[in-house]
Amino acid sequence: MKNKKPNAELVWKQLEDQLAPRLRLSVIERTVYAHLLRHSRLEGKLRLQFSLLGVGRNIRLSAGPVRKAVRRLVAHDALRMVQRSKTGHVVEVRLPDEIPAAGLKRIARRAAAKEESTGTRSPVNLEGVDFMQNKPLRNSIHARERDQCFYCLRRTPPSVQCLDHVVPQARSGRNSYRNLVSSCMECNTQKGETAAADFLRRLYRERRLTAAELAARLRALDALASGKLRPPLLHPA
Ligand SMILES: [Zn+2]
Repeated sequence: MKNKKPNAELVWKQLEDQLAPRLRLSVIERTVYAHLLRHSRLEGKLRLQFSLLGVGRNIRLSAGPVRKAVRRLVAHDALRMVQRSKTGHVVEVRLPDEIPAAGLKRIARRAAAKEESTGTRSPVNLEGVDFMQNKPLRNSIHARERDQCFYCLRRTPPSVQCLDHVVPQARSGRNSYRNLVSSCMECNTQKGETAAADFLRRLYRERRLTAAELAARLRALDALASGKLRPPLLHPA
């Protein structure tokens, strides 16, 4: 998490359009979160010290409902409690797209518990998961490709990497881990609506891939579609 000011307009839209409905935030929870976010991340600070009474005074509520809202926001990982004391709390405030999907956390917890009790790793169901919905999920796709472009194999530092839909969204490609790959901006732009296999062959014709690399990439494409390339989401190496 960087201590720079995020794009407030984008954050606001993510809060209204995605986060609040996804976490089913009540009006109070939403107001408390917006207030804390406003005074931390939107000021370029990760942490914030506050008192329940102080926040309550600001949004015209008593400390009780504020405390309840803070608890629920912590449970959802929207806030991380750093310190709790009589004089005030210190929290780290997460931006909407830094908050992990609730469903996924539950799945991960269940898998971990099962692993512990049986001593074996059980497959986790990722099929319904929308990997575009937040940053941790998007990052898990980049991590799977080890920060290399899926198509041209160039190294892609975070500033030039993006997620590419293998089957374009315009052709009803899904946000599944089977349809998303980490790619460089150039490949993402050049591929456009082209089928992924055809695009790889074009890279070979342009001598950006060797014959062996092309063959390996086409195999990777099959492996991706058949669900064999799972992101290292729950068991980071
Ligand atoms: Zn590329």
